Amino acid sequence: MTTVTVRASRPYEVTIGRGLLDTVGRQAAGQWKGRSAAVVSDSTVAPLYLNRVKDSLERAGFRVHSFVFPAGEDQKNGGTYLKLLEFLAARRLTRADGLIALGGGVVGDLAGFAAATFLRGIGFLQLPTTLLAAVDSSVGGKTAIDLTNGKNLAGAFYQPQAVLCDLDTLDTLPAEVFADGCAEVIKYGMIGDPALLARLETVDFRADPEELVARCVAQKRDLVEQDEFDTGARQLLNLGHTLGHGVEACSGYTVSHGRAVAIGMTLVTRAAVAFGRCPAEVLPRLRRLLERYGLPDATAYSAQALYEKTLSDKKRSGDTISLVVPIAWGASQLVRIPVSELPAWIERGLGL
Ligand code: NAD
Repeated sequence: MTTVTVRASRPYEVTIGRGLLDTVGRQAAGQWKGRSAAVVSDSTVAPLYLNRVKDSLERAGFRVHSFVFPAGEDQKNGGTYLKLLEFLAARRLTRADGLIALGGGVVGDLAGFAAATFLRGIGFLQLPTTLLAAVDSSVGGKTAIDLTNGKNLAGAFYQPQAVLCDLDTLDTLPAEVFADGCAEVIKYGMIGDPALLARLETVDFRADPEELVARCVAQKRDLVEQDEFDTGARQLLNLGHTLGHGVEACSGYTVSHGRAVAIGMTLVTRAAVAFGRCPAEVLPRLRRLLERYGLPDATAYSAQALYEKTLSDKKRSGDTISLVVPIAWGASQLVRIPVSELPAWIERGLGL
């Protein structure tokens, strides 16, 4: 078992290991004075793990209310969010009670936003069950829902009180969902960890992911501690996300977040090479690594379509948009470019 402490405005521990779902009752009892717990999960995860979480909470003396919504990014919306708030209100949860997110990034983002806003903030624990949620979305306090105009457009910074990352849950992930998480793992390497990239190129971490998950969480912790509210260093985590969000939006969110990030990293790297900001050998090496982990590196969407969707991304501010640009194997830099230069970045990214 590994513990990473995040010293954000609300400090908390991320515990990574096996068998942790059975300890959630003890964890919640240590955090909350109330006796009610709401567990939020989706229709895929709930049949697999909800009973274990409920049993643990009941053993610790909690009355448990379960809110389960259909799995999928298209449910991370205002409708599901309002239903959840009404559910919590109808069960009369108080600020002494708490909410638990049991699932991937969709569950964590939506449940976290509900926890941040219900009664202006109630207790909140994260139980990530995808690799992506384990290494990224469950840590750092970004919560959000999607609006029809774009992803994550309504949200709040709200740190969890604890994250219990039970690696047993990763064993039931379909290969393509595991691969989505690998895109974020590769992203950590590309941002600033060449040693992690070297491990990924040589060792298959899938059978024993604890050390690797902990390494990624520690890297996220470092960036969150420097810049909790995402005005500077933390934005490095957006590598592959600016153009990746464009790909996701073009697909109507049928291309998953992880795949979109993989494509976004490839596009921005190819453009960086074309503009002389990054050595040429970085691109084929990145593409080989993405292929090794079952991730795509190309898109059929046109430069114009990508440009229009990328413009609605919230990383745009006035006439500039932020872009994280690889500058070496295992090193990236945050730059702001005028929106007028974005078409050229997209075209070079597509190899046009
Ligand atoms: P997801 O939550 O939709 O999970 C993917 C699929 O896997 C779903 O069908 C889910 O039901 C299923 N699943 C989850 N756990 C499982 C398990 N243990 N066994 C079998 N099936 C399981 O997607 P995701 O990739 O985890 O998260 C993507 C979301 O995370 C996006 O909405 C993205 O915007 C968000 N995100 C947020 C942050 C943040 O900092 N808050 C960071 C990165 C991504």
